[in-house]
Amino acid sequence: MDDLRKQLFYERKNGYEQIDASEHALVEEYAQDYMKFLDASKTEREAVANAIALAKENGFVPFEPGMTLAPGSKVYRSNRGKSLLLAVIGQESLAQGAVIAGAHVDCPRLDLKQNPLYESDELAFFKTHYYGGIKKYQWVAIPLELHGVVSLKDGSTIEITVGKNPGEPKFVITDLLPHLAQDQMKKTLAEGITGEALNILIGSVPYDDDEKDKVKFAVLSILNDNYGITEEDFLSAELCAVPAFDVTEIGFDRSMIGGYGHDDRSCAYAELKAVFDVKDPRRTCVCILADKEEIGSDGVTGMQSAAFDCFMKDLCVAQGVDLRRCYEKSFCLSADVTNAFDPTYPDVSEKMNDSRVNYGLAIAKYTGSRGKYDTSDASAETVGFVRRIFADSHVIWQMAELGKVDQGGGGTIAKYMANRNIETIDAGVPVLSMHAPFEVVGKLDCYMTYKGVLAVYRS
Ligand code: MN
Ligand code: MN
Repeated sequence: MDDLRKQLFYERKNGYEQIDASEHALVEEYAQDYMKFLDASKTEREAVANAIALAKENGFVPFEPGMTLAPGSKVYRSNRGKSLLLAVIGQESLAQGAVIAGAHVDCPRLDLKQNPLYESDELAFFKTHYYGGIKKYQWVAIPLELHGVVSLKDGSTIEITVGKNPGEPKFVITDLLPHLAQDQMKKTLAEGITGEALNILIGSVPYDDDEKDKVKFAVLSILNDNYGITEEDFLSAELCAVPAFDVTEIGFDRSMIGGYGHDDRSCAYAELKAVFDVKDPRRTCVCILADKEEIGSDGVTGMQSAAFDCFMKDLCVAQGVDLRRCYEKSFCLSADVTNAFDPTYPDVSEKMNDSRVNYGLAIAKYTGSRGKYDTSDASAETVGFVRRIFADSHVIWQMAELGKVDQGGGGTIAKYMANRNIETIDAGVPVLSMHAPFEVVGKLDCYMTYKGVLAVYRS
């Protein structure tokens, strides 16, 4: 009877009860490398720059239209420094389709407005407009760094990073003291801190003159000394405030990683490592690091942009293949994080179908909300395909659903890939406190995501 039970029941099991000591060591080794990548990649531009540096070390070269490609050729194309496409050419023609993994490297953050700088009551501030889905109250009273670029009228671009390196100052958005917060505390979490209250404190010493806005003047003079910029230059700047937290191990057992931007750099790094490690693949492997996913994948560097089609078409042209024929035979793993079940907030999940920390790579057949609205909803055959290859490669994985029915929901780049007539399914790392300034993931799940992407690339 016990055998029959085992045979008939589907039982989920903790990943640590399925791996041996040698694989545990691989999990650790992988986690250390990922932590370095995450720590150095606080914006999509930095993630792309770091990915290109790693790609070059691994033999990738910039892909120009008309280049001769042979099986094993390794190429990349940067889309304006904010998204990245890499490919390893397969033994088979692109007429047999490509195997694609797509993650995103943009994360929720606070962008400076185009006219950001002001002084109020002898304190200087930057005004911000938040980017992506945030709980605003999480972004006050925490240390912030400033990252980004300023494009000058002469056509040059200056990179600015303040607060990342030891000894540099940081920034903060102030919050009300509890003693005087009785009105604020009666508001909902959504209303307690408003978007227009996310003003970053940047200075307090007045400039030595008799005009108004002396603190603002003093800040501008520091910026001019350090970067040669003036107030007008903010008009053509892309500067953002991100959490100034170091990436760190979490827990007595060090089994988890805390840091900013696991969504979706945990999957982006998994893809990168996999595309570096795949050797002589049967089909062409494509790795996408997309931008703008957190604001709907719109824009020239988002997954709705033709930049991806242009890259794929250039690859296809090199082999005399019709792009449409390539797409219809391609497969895409949309590598994006999902919600990890949190025992402190059990009510938002449905326990039979949630994903859990340490249970491995989380496959989402569908995301979306309100009755599977806004999702590509992969077919049974597509799920069957990944089941088979994950079983063959001993990838520990789980099925996931983003919260219980009608609780909310979310989306990824999956539907934009599927809309191109590419068979697509979502898969990624389960995250605790997703979209918070400090998110948490399990090391084992990060490693299994790498292993899963590699299995797909080898299929
Ligand atoms: Mn994501
Ligand atoms: Mn997200």
